[in-house]
Amino acid sequence: MTDQSIQELLESAKRWRADFPIIQTKTAQGHALAYLDNAATSQKPQAVIDVLTHFYATENANVHRGVYQLSEHATERFEQSRATIGKFIGSPEPKNLVLTHGATEAFNCIAHSYFRDRLQNGDEIILSIAEHHANIVPWQQLAKEKGCLIHYIPLTSDGQFDMQAYEQTLSTRTKLVAVTHVSNVLGTIFPIKKITQMAHAMHAKVLVDGAQACPQIPVDVSDLGCDFYIASSHKCYAPAGVGCFYAKPECLSQVTPYQTGGSMIQSVTRKGATFMPPPMRFEAGTPAIAETIAWASACDYLQTQNTAHRLHYKQLLTLYLMERLQQMPHITIYGTHKDKVPVAAFTHAFIHPHDLASILDGSGVAVRAGHHCAMPLHQALNIAATTRASLTFYNNTTDIDRLIVGIKQAEEIFNG
Ligand code: PMP
Repeated sequence: MTDQSIQELLESAKRWRADFPIIQTKTAQGHALAYLDNAATSQKPQAVIDVLTHFYATENANVHRGVYQLSEHATERFEQSRATIGKFIGSPEPKNLVLTHGATEAFNCIAHSYFRDRLQNGDEIILSIAEHHANIVPWQQLAKEKGCLIHYIPLTSDGQFDMQAYEQTLSTRTKLVAVTHVSNVLGTIFPIKKITQMAHAMHAKVLVDGAQACPQIPVDVSDLGCDFYIASSHKCYAPAGVGCFYAKPECLSQVTPYQTGGSMIQSVTRKGATFMPPPMRFEAGTPAIAETIAWASACDYLQTQNTAHRLHYKQLLTLYLMERLQQMPHITIYGTHKDKVPVAAFTHAFIHPHDLASILDGSGVAVRAGHHCAMPLHQALNIAATTRASLTFYNNTTDIDRLIVGIKQAEEIFNG
């Protein structure tokens, strides 16, 4: 990179940071906030906050029902938002995108609407050992009910999905491969396209957990070729309360919805009901209207920024984060593979993750400690918990420096 392009990148990064009001605030002790918990939830830019408040102040009405202007306008905005969010992840058509009340609901919807009728005794499901509980427990429950076997693919020593183990495990008995695109603990990017091609060669369906990928890397479901792809609004710089899943058309038609009620019906008599076509067939009840519209505005916000700049800047942050942590003699980092986003999980030789997170909080550095809803991964790594620093494009190297200073302060406290 030339000096000029580095300068341009740093200027963009300053502008991005200024777009997020909470990042300008101070903690109760008067410290500037170093928010390093983006994998838990992202912060929201002013543009998205404005869309949310503007909707409630001037546009609020229920969707898909009213014939009056306010409701028709809300419906139009809601359906446009479906198209925007779908396009953001490469969905060829808006009708391929089902809106849910969160990523977790999307997993459950797919498990119980699609797979419950299609899995049989003896079928096999492949997960990675790094999955979030949202992509483990619904399959465990279904496997128990149906008599299926779950295989967990291990990771290589640097935290990458073990393709060799996968190849050995995959068979014609495999009916579903459900894996994350980006690990919420290690930050590793899994080779989804290859994983999908191999699964399809065995006629297995592929579901991808994109909760951590969508806020960090470009996603194109058409290019990945997967059958299902799940995302979560609050990780994507938008309000909480919305999730979505993309599904290939053949995975939505002839599928019985697991949740029923208002909005998803065509007609109801005393004897029974007929259902709307997809995607509405899977959207029982009133959706999170304002939050969905705000999520679309977050997609617009990201698209108006220079995506290549943002990606490059995050790669530099990843390198800097890893380098600074690797220089710390008492720190062990989990997940050192080169294909990763700016997320680092680590343990300290003599400080428990929760103590470390509390001490860091004292100086305004917000990190997460625990199992990060990935207990099987921690069991495989033989540890109970990690401290996780997860960054994004509004973070900077000063945030990382403050993390390192905070760890050194914690070491001084523990050394007496
Ligand atoms: N998958 C991954 C990888 C996640 O990080 C999360 C959220 N921590 C989820 C699924 C579940 O998302 P939500 O809590 O929004 O339902």
